[in-house]
Amino acid sequence: MSSITPIYCQECGRANGRSAKRCIWCGLPIIEGDAPLAFDSTRVEIDYIGGIERLEDPAPVTMVVSPEGIEVIELMPGSRIVKIPAGSIIEAKVVDASEVAEASDKPWWSAIGSAKGKRSAATKKHDYLLNVKYYGDDDVQSAIFRREDKAGLQTVNALAWTISLIARRNKRREP
Ligand SMILES: [Zn+2]
Repeated sequence: MSSITPIYCQECGRANGRSAKRCIWCGLPIIEGDAPLAFDSTRVEIDYIGGIERLEDPAPVTMVVSPEGIEVIELMPGSRIVKIPAGSIIEAKVVDASEVAEASDKPWWSAIGSAKGKRSAATKKHDYLLNVKYYGDDDVQSAIFRREDKAGLQTVNALAWTISLIARRNKRREP
């Protein structure tokens, strides 16, 4: 019995074989508690909106996500680099705040009903937000980033997925 110790999925909690790379139940990658996270760092340009104490103003930044955490690098000359260490990351979420441009003066749900038949003429205003929750100096903070281009959705989804890997590993380490 002791020779077949299962490992438990950090996400759904169900048992998997020791060599499992992905959970056979929910399909998410298995992260061993103390194993180092191994993934290639991702580097993207994105708009910083707020939520990091040392960066007061919204600005375009380069965001680097690596197993060590998140680096937010200002694009302006003399730019600052702010780091969110991997261990302080709680979760990452994507919010699709896109709107149909024709209906900018109305709530989006009224646009869906009234714009039937001419929906193809409506242009979508792409607006994708990435919300990263982390432990700041004093309490929990939410750093917000934004992409306003069509390809931005895929970009923020990929970032959120990668950051969630780090967050799930942290969750697993908590007692
Ligand atoms: Zn699972």
